[in-house]
Amino acid sequence: MPSLLPDHRTRGTLLHQAANTINAYLEHLAEWPVVPQFNNAELRRFLEAFEFETPQDNRQILAKVCQAMERWGIHTAHPRCFGLFNPTPAFPGVLADLLVAGYNPQAGAWHQNPFAVETERHLIRYFAKRFALGENAYGHFTSGGSEANTTGTLVALTRRFPDFPQHGLRGLKAQPVFYGSAEFHHSFDKIARQCGLGRSALRQIPVTDADVMDVDALAARIRQDRQAGFAPFMVVATAGTTNAGLVEPLTEIAAVAAQEGLHYHVDAAWGGGVILSDALRPLLAGIEAADSITFDPHKLLSVPMGAGMFLCRQHRWLGDTFGVDTDYVPDSDIDGLDNYRQSLQFSRRFIGLKLFMSLAVAGREAYGRQIERQFEQAQKLAEKLRTEGWHVVNGASMGVVCCVLPDLPENADPGTAYEAIASAVRQSGEAWISTTRLGGRPVIRACVTSYLCRENDLDVLVNALSRARRETLG
Ligand SMILES: *Cc1c(COP(=O)(O)O)cnc(C)c1O
Repeated sequence: MPSLLPDHRTRGTLLHQAANTINAYLEHLAEWPVVPQFNNAELRRFLEAFEFETPQDNRQILAKVCQAMERWGIHTAHPRCFGLFNPTPAFPGVLADLLVAGYNPQAGAWHQNPFAVETERHLIRYFAKRFALGENAYGHFTSGGSEANTTGTLVALTRRFPDFPQHGLRGLKAQPVFYGSAEFHHSFDKIARQCGLGRSALRQIPVTDADVMDVDALAARIRQDRQAGFAPFMVVATAGTTNAGLVEPLTEIAAVAAQEGLHYHVDAAWGGGVILSDALRPLLAGIEAADSITFDPHKLLSVPMGAGMFLCRQHRWLGDTFGVDTDYVPDSDIDGLDNYRQSLQFSRRFIGLKLFMSLAVAGREAYGRQIERQFEQAQKLAEKLRTEGWHVVNGASMGVVCCVLPDLPENADPGTAYEAIASAVRQSGEAWISTTRLGGRPVIRACVTSYLCRENDLDVLVNALSRARRETLG
């Protein structure tokens, strides 16, 4: 079918057209409003014109899609998108994703594409070593943090209940339960359902005044659960909480998990990237005691979505959890660690290439320094906000700044007021920020997500916030 593979010349034209458009987009990104104004009816009309009965010209479709990409979505790559961890994509990673789509290697099994599989293994070993997980550590790439957290939960269930792969939860005598703090990531809410545990299996431990897990409360809850006949199997600590970028007390939580014989999973989806920086690495002290780790290169390391990583202390845990025998996959694995027998996925995209190319091009040290700069920008932002009368409540940890107004009018509901302010900032198009609740208190949240963010961008945000505050509160 010529439309699925146009001739050599047309392909060249199309690739140039796509490349030029992306190149221009990245060049002029900062001039765009971060949040374009649009109405959804327009978008629907655009889509309804596609009935897929009459074939259309490749070049026109490409042009229309590029326009749509620029028109109907927040520009997450923008230096003033102070958002939910969607960074400006690292350019070597953009190239990698193009190559992966073009060559379409199958990374599920070694014999299919040794380059893809060995490249990912090389990266897995590299990061396992940096996280100091020991000689037998292993892992794989995932679509993101959610998949990696699911993997951690399944590995934990298998370790704790060896019959689990065979008989499932039905085979257990007691109801399994697991622990995270009230600030842990909501992927676990879905994971509890997806794994058949149910949301009641998820114990949310209260946080301290510092908004991290209260370790004494954790130990007490585990004892209480055991007495009540439940079967605890896993403790999750978060290294870089989504709301506030805080690292929970990793060493203390590890001690409780070890004492109770529970699998210890550290969700470092956001924070894990600091492992590349010599200066920031101590923030993750204690992570080396983890049994497994979630880490998203598509967050702090800025590679295009989706790129997550799951690492664990013993490679055999993965085989115990996911091992299958198939007749249709040739048995030519060099070390018995084929991805399709070690992970949730079967067919597998070569996810690791975008990290491989980005890391190779930038070098570890420069990468680490970039993350340091991003965190410094957040510190600067916190200072600027303080000067403007905001109260920063989280110490600007890991690039995330959470702030409140100490002088809200008596009759104002803080949640409503902050949402009105954040919404006005977004509407101005000058920056994207959001609100959340930290330890139950409403806050405005700004995360320095883009490696392009400069001091001037912080000033634009602070001015937009001040203006929105005057307009909404008078
Ligand atoms: C982002 C994040 C996740 C979820 O990762 P996805 O890549 O969005 O699936 C899990 N945990 C933490 C702490 C996160 O920041």
